[in-house]
Amino acid sequence: MRFAGKTAVVTGGASGIGRATVDLFTAEGATVILGDIDSGAGQAIETASEGRVLFRRCDVRQESDIKGLMDFAAERTGGLDIVFNNAGAGGARARIDEITADEWDDTMALLLRSVALGIRHATSHLKARGGGAIVNTSSVSALHSGYAPTTYSVAKAGVLHLTKIAAADLAQYGIRVNAVVPGFIMTNIFTGSLGLADEDKAKADAMIGAVSAQAQPVARSGVPRDIAEAVAYLASDAAAFVTGTDLLVDGGMLIGPRHSW
Ligand code: NAD
Repeated sequence: MRFAGKTAVVTGGASGIGRATVDLFTAEGATVILGDIDSGAGQAIETASEGRVLFRRCDVRQESDIKGLMDFAAERTGGLDIVFNNAGAGGARARIDEITADEWDDTMALLLRSVALGIRHATSHLKARGGGAIVNTSSVSALHSGYAPTTYSVAKAGVLHLTKIAAADLAQYGIRVNAVVPGFIMTNIFTGSLGLADEDKAKADAMIGAVSAQAQPVARSGVPRDIAEAVAYLASDAAAFVTGTDLLVDGGMLIGPRHSW
């Protein structure tokens, strides 16, 4: 029960990595405020949670929604301890010389500005508690050019540096800020950003599984729980001396497979 008596905000908590983190946080005693653009899924999770999860619709591209989410968490539960800035989707699938200004703006608002504003609007509440923990979702695509759309990769690289700056600025208030860096994790982000119909999901799953098996020393696709466990560690008191860092959880994808000589 690492999170007994704690309040945690999770953005993008209605699916995938966020959903697994909501489940782990609540299983270990937290009350979770789930912010997501998907009201149907978010409400259903709240209803099934027996009071452990409160859903609030939040589009992380809108500053007023982010501020509303953090204020709601503090007002409804009496304070805020943990924030997981995680909501996201794919970016523009174009080469660097083809991407439009609007495509840059859209992806930065969704994946990078949202994290900066999440930190901004959580800070006063975390300070009021005497400190807290923030975890931001980056991606292996922040560290490698080959895995994801350009705008997405650049935004996720920004999340890593933002994490370091926020950690340095906020340490004086007892607030730790870290990033989790997932490899390929089987979630709806692939089918959603590829625009696949439901019946094609199985094909996408098979494709990602095959890529993972070839590209990683740990030859399986990652699952959302793999990332939730890392987030829970960074959010917990066990990581009291850990701030400004990024935790790579990729099955060894970035070191690559070892070839025999
Ligand atoms: P997912 O599609 O399963 O979940 C994403 C969630 O974010 C959904 O519930 C969706 O409704 C929500 N969301 C999307 N746009 C939103 C918005 N504007 N405002 C609020 N909520 C919004 O995907 P996932 O894989 O769990 O993605 C979670 C995070 O992990 C994302 O930031 C993603 O970029 C990152 N990530 C995923 C992988 C992977 O392989 N799945 C790898 C690296 C990083």
